[in-house]
Amino acid sequence: MSIPSLEELRAIGAAQQPTYPDLDARDRAVEKLGKMPPLVFAGECDSLRDKMAAVARGEAFLLQGGDCAETFEGVTAENVRNKLRVLLSMAVVLTYAASVPVVKVGRLAGQYAKPRSSDTETRDGVTLPAYRGDAVNGFDFTPEARHPDPQRLLDVYHASSATLNLARAFTTGGYADLRQMHAWNTDFVRNSPVGERYERIGDEIDRALAFMDAIGSDPDELHTVDFYSSHEALVLEYEHALTRIDSRTNLPYDVSGHFVWIGERTRQLDGAHVELLSRIANPIGVKLGPTSTADDALALYEKLNPEHVPGKVTFITRFGAEKIRDLLPTLVEKVTAAGAEVAWVTDPMHGNTFATDNGYKTREFDAVIDEVRGFFEVHRALGTWPGGLHVELTGDDVTECLGGGMKLSAQDLEHRYETLCDPRLNRAQSLELAFLVAEMLAG
Ligand code: PEP
Ligand code: MN
Repeated sequence: MSIPSLEELRAIGAAQQPTYPDLDARDRAVEKLGKMPPLVFAGECDSLRDKMAAVARGEAFLLQGGDCAETFEGVTAENVRNKLRVLLSMAVVLTYAASVPVVKVGRLAGQYAKPRSSDTETRDGVTLPAYRGDAVNGFDFTPEARHPDPQRLLDVYHASSATLNLARAFTTGGYADLRQMHAWNTDFVRNSPVGERYERIGDEIDRALAFMDAIGSDPDELHTVDFYSSHEALVLEYEHALTRIDSRTNLPYDVSGHFVWIGERTRQLDGAHVELLSRIANPIGVKLGPTSTADDALALYEKLNPEHVPGKVTFITRFGAEKIRDLLPTLVEKVTAAGAEVAWVTDPMHGNTFATDNGYKTREFDAVIDEVRGFFEVHRALGTWPGGLHVELTGDDVTECLGGGMKLSAQDLEHRYETLCDPRLNRAQSLELAFLVAEMLAG
């Protein structure tokens, strides 16, 4: 496999790209990026691909989560720690219920570029370029902030490097201790208004840990975890500059993250995103929305994984709670019948977004749960494996999604609505989701 040049990719055509006004500045940024060391190592991508192959075989479960859009301002110890803490706490509950390994992947250390439904945004009669994520421009509604600046791609690199460094330290340095993670769950069960419902699973995990203590079993696995990074591969300049040939395997890897995915708006079969990701050896995801047919999915599978490498392709469906039970069965049936071995993952967020009367983009916790439930029902009926969850969440107590144990209402959203893009589950809603999915996995 070879890496197409950036010019070739641009000639193929890519949706959702920034229009940089200063091409020299863009080329200088790309050149600098091309000299930066890898953020992740090819061998780590291979390990994750092997784990995703286990997910595809029904022998592991994926938990993938983090912000819709990371921000440079959000690169603080507290923010990264809280996100890891909620993800790892969720993973404990899911591991216990699934009785298979949970593959832990953050939507972080690179999730800085956003596709938008419109190139521009108008407020009070003023029209400016839309915010495309910190990778491209600033969120403030001023001409200066909204100006696409290629220097930001280098800032993404450094922000991702700092985030990943901290994540590696936390997950291997004792912070990710399973007993500690479970202590946080116990706290949640005790303090949540709906905690009683989860007491049984919480107590069972307590007993399992006490049993291991009693027999003197203290494996390394209790103290460290394998944790991986992921983001949507959107801005070609960035992803291409970080795609390198690995000297060990002689294959190209996108070393900007362990796992990268193609979004719902950039999955054109003949587009540049599919072309670039078809060349790399990383495990990759493709978002599939309600308009994707089984033929689309199969054509994407063949193009992205012509050699049928196990673990290479994950389909992340995001149909919406109302559609999943109608649309998912045919898709899974035909893809399975064609012999394509993919991991099936549900994104119960992006098909369930709406705006409240008071002007907040939000999601109902119950709709999120309903889509996950539909995902399990469909796979159970077909005898296929519901391979995992892809969610937008944060470790903080924000008020962005409605409902959950705290019963957040539209009026509550203004208290801590902090996302610059899509609404995220807060810490309590995320843990509640984990306990509910645990019931589905065990049931
Ligand atoms: C996202 O994951 O934030 C996103 C934009 O999703 P999708 O491509 O599925 O719309
Ligand atoms: Mn989103």
